[in-house]
Amino acid sequence: MSPSFASSNLFRLFIPVVLISCVLIGMNHIIEATQANSGFTTNLPYILFGTALALSHSFKQSRIAMVSMAMLLAYAVIQTRLQTPISTGTTLLELSLVSLLLPVSCCLAFLFPDTGIFNRGMYIFSAIILSFLLWTYLILTHFYTGGFSGFEEDLLFSFPAISRLPIVLILYCIAMTGATGIFVLNYNRPIDAVVYTCILLTSTTFIFFHLPYVSSTLFSLAGVLVIIYVISASHQMAFNDRLTNIPGRRALEMDMKHLGRKFTIAMLDVDHFKKFNDTYGHETGDDVLKLVASRMASTGGNAKVYRYGGEEFTILFKGKTVKESKSFLEDLRGEIEHYKMVIRDNEQRPKNNKAGAQRRGKENDSSTVSITVSIGVSDSKNTNKPEQVLKKADKALYKAKELGRNRVHSMT
Ligand code: GH3
Ligand code: MG
Ligand code: MG
Repeated sequence: MSPSFASSNLFRLFIPVVLISCVLIGMNHIIEATQANSGFTTNLPYILFGTALALSHSFKQSRIAMVSMAMLLAYAVIQTRLQTPISTGTTLLELSLVSLLLPVSCCLAFLFPDTGIFNRGMYIFSAIILSFLLWTYLILTHFYTGGFSGFEEDLLFSFPAISRLPIVLILYCIAMTGATGIFVLNYNRPIDAVVYTCILLTSTTFIFFHLPYVSSTLFSLAGVLVIIYVISASHQMAFNDRLTNIPGRRALEMDMKHLGRKFTIAMLDVDHFKKFNDTYGHETGDDVLKLVASRMASTGGNAKVYRYGGEEFTILFKGKTVKESKSFLEDLRGEIEHYKMVIRDNEQRPKNNKAGAQRRGKENDSSTVSITVSIGVSDSKNTNKPEQVLKKADKALYKAKELGRNRVHSMT
């Protein structure tokens, strides 16, 4: 279905912050509750991230699976190695290493494509994580032999009143959280939300590591949010169009059931698209569809946009008449008409896609082309049955084509 507030970038950016604030405010109650159910709450992160891993496998979200795996391992290290006071033995060094390596491990997921769990990407990721563990082991054994004397005073310097974690690592955690937060703001894919949430919640854990039960509480919270994002990713996969990444036909059918009494539907079709494909190749044709979709996504008037199929798109305006929506459609049509799309090597470019792709390295002989779209629009004035309004919009679209294309035509 079309994006809701709960999947917006701002919601995804602020919800972990709100939850952390709630946890820190109610920490005393959490400590009491955790003490009463100690066995369960300490094991909860294992259950939650195990579930996230299984769901990621079912929904072919290997990148979220990678993050879940890293989180499981980090939590296991915390539970087995870091339950002693921070000033004893190598505890501080181990905490520092985990807080350094976990954000890197989470971000590594960005380097891989999304597939099933048992694939090459997952094996490479596992090998990198193993090498991190080996590296950590080597550092710890050298530390024992006295190779790092004076380490705590220099590199691992901290302000114990705020946090036992060295200042340099606190700054690093803040920088990693900020960088992944920018990804959420700009791209807002489920993987962005997962990486950002995990880095933010684990960084808070490491910074406030002296608080009792902080790791089980915040890792559990991260686990719940990751499960929500896996489900949201599978939902997006089912309802979004793969090529353009805007909602597809299924989402349109669902949303058409909830339009209310007053609404407008517009159908948009790219002009002479067959000719465009024949001239520049199917791949460039796909780029045009992505471009049209991205321009459509910023249509004003609270429009909801969908890929209907092929080079046809649908726009819904809830609570608006044709008269109230037409200016937004005119703006969109004009914006697409004036957008200059860069085509490389267009004159000599072979029509064969494969050969065309091979020529992509040549940047110097690029030129620009423009495309136009025709739009047909109708509203619920005479009938409030969405299917009939959509049919009328389709008829209006054909009329717009007849009248010479590159125009918005309405039918009541
Ligand atoms: P008109 O101005 O009348 O709309 O002409 P047209 O050429 O756009 O219309 P027509 O229906 O004849 O051709 C539509 C073309 O869209 C044919 C098909 O190859 C192309 N097409 C459909 N889906 C895709 C797609 O996903 N990618 C690419 N590249 N082309 C597609
Ligand atoms: Mg068409
Ligand atoms: Mg067309």
